[in-house]
Amino acid sequence: MMAVSMALLQHVCSVPLARAALRPRCSLAVSTSSRRNLSVSLPSRAPHVDPHVLLGMSEQELQQLAVDFGQQSYRGKQLHHLIYKRKINKIEDFSQLPQAFRNDLQEAGWTVGCSPIYRTVTAADGTIKLLVQLEDNRLVETVGIPVEDKKGLMRLTACVSSQVGCPLRCSFCATGKGGFSRNLKRHEIIGQVLAIEEIFKHRVTNVVFMGMGEPMLNLKSVLEAHRCLNKVLLQLFVQVI
Ligand code: SF4
Repeated sequence: MMAVSMALLQHVCSVPLARAALRPRCSLAVSTSSRRNLSVSLPSRAPHVDPHVLLGMSEQELQQLAVDFGQQSYRGKQLHHLIYKRKINKIEDFSQLPQAFRNDLQEAGWTVGCSPIYRTVTAADGTIKLLVQLEDNRLVETVGIPVEDKKGLMRLTACVSSQVGCPLRCSFCATGKGGFSRNLKRHEIIGQVLAIEEIFKHRVTNVVFMGMGEPMLNLKSVLEAHRCLNKVLLQLFVQVI
């Protein structure tokens, strides 16, 4: 499945016309204040993983983290459940965990790493565009596209961004005209999927990297997010292409 997904990922990322076809549904102008922060340059070399962010870590990594903090490894499983299933976005609200463990995590600078939803716009067909606010107050767009399948079940596709702005400046694209600011980190990509699930109160079934940015220019973060969405969220039946 991974191989198939990767092949599809490469296909999607290398076909600008396919992106152009979806663009009208995905395009959402970045706010004026955000545009002021945009600058045209090559993608930044900022770390693709924030060392103190829980979102994006696997169950094994969370178990190791718990052990590193002097806890039993099953606390890591609980962390996994709280982040990915319960979708709790503040460490202080992890009431299943001992207060001392929560305090230790926070004092060491750990956060969950979810990005708050800044604004939403709903279209007549049920598609919802979201602006998600990042730690540095920059905004990225992400889109939830619900479609009913032949059995009457809802398929929910998340169209996520991989960069703030885009350096490629395709002539037909509003994002390209706004310039490029920076690459998204792993947790900022995964957070978009969770934001869509929060808005729709429904599991995301498919993810496409067709929002703001060129995913192949931020490959490390995109692949990290891809692995997390396929492996960590596998039980949610997410299919990432
Ligand atoms: S400018 Fe960037 S985001 Fe816009 S279509 Fe081109 S590659 Fe995609």
